[in-house]
Amino acid sequence: MERYRIRPGREVDLRTFDPNDTGAFDGDKDDGKDALKALNERLEDLQERLWAEQKHRLLVVLQAMDAGGKDGTIRHVFEGVNPQGVRVANFKVPTRKELAHDYLWRVHREVPGDGEIVIFNRSHYEDVLVVRVDRLVPPEVWGRRYRHINDFERMLADEGTTLLKFYLHIDREEQKERFQDRLDEKPWKFSMGDLGKREQWPQYMEAYEDVLRETSTGWAPWYVVPANRKWYRNLVVGTVLVETLEALDMRYPAPADDLDGVVIP
Ligand code: ADP
Repeated sequence: MERYRIRPGREVDLRTFDPNDTGAFDGDKDDGKDALKALNERLEDLQERLWAEQKHRLLVVLQAMDAGGKDGTIRHVFEGVNPQGVRVANFKVPTRKELAHDYLWRVHREVPGDGEIVIFNRSHYEDVLVVRVDRLVPPEVWGRRYRHINDFERMLADEGTTLLKFYLHIDREEQKERFQDRLDEKPWKFSMGDLGKREQWPQYMEAYEDVLRETSTGWAPWYVVPANRKWYRNLVVGTVLVETLEALDMRYPAPADDLDGVVIP
């Protein structure tokens, strides 16, 4: 999975990342789906350990263009995991109250506590993406946010949070197909606003490239996930999660009492 991780400070040209890539699976969807099932089971066990140990915290950031597959990734990668152990935080257009605070205020409240996994479906990165592309604040304001974000994430990491960030990379053609499917099959999920953002595709790609270059750090790395093939996208995200959690070497705690010879009456 290393090849999808962005090394700190690296110039990123998203045109050089193939959204159709299926890695070693070479397009074999059935094998990919079997592999995901195995990952689901490992993740289920790892989440249980994480909760039992009450020592680590995991924050997963998901960003993508519209129809990039954030919802599907959450649904499939976490299939089988105890819903009580995982929480999803959505970040929509900020409310009046949220706008009356700094942009990290609403974000910090949602970060995981001990033993928790929290998935950010959109995140503080919207504050250097849509906010930049739609010119909601001047460049000098969003321009200094990369530094804030790196410092904020460093603080979280120093205090015991493991951070993983995924950009689900689809191309404009794939978005067109997914929008068309939505229009035909799930019109309630379709909004005219999505078409506006589609028009701004090049500006978004530029904004994402800057995010990836400026904020992929040793303590909070970005992964660019090939996401035209949904099954491969799930596999990449699932593998990175499982490998990262396994590296934490989590153990079930010893029982509080001496249980030798205990008989349940
Ligand atoms: P989703 O597309 O994630 O399923 P919505 O369709 O409700 O959910 O979209 C949420 C919208 O909120 C997106 O258009 C996103 O760009 C916008 N948004 C999120 N954070 C901010 C922000 N900080 N400032 C402005 N808009 C934001």
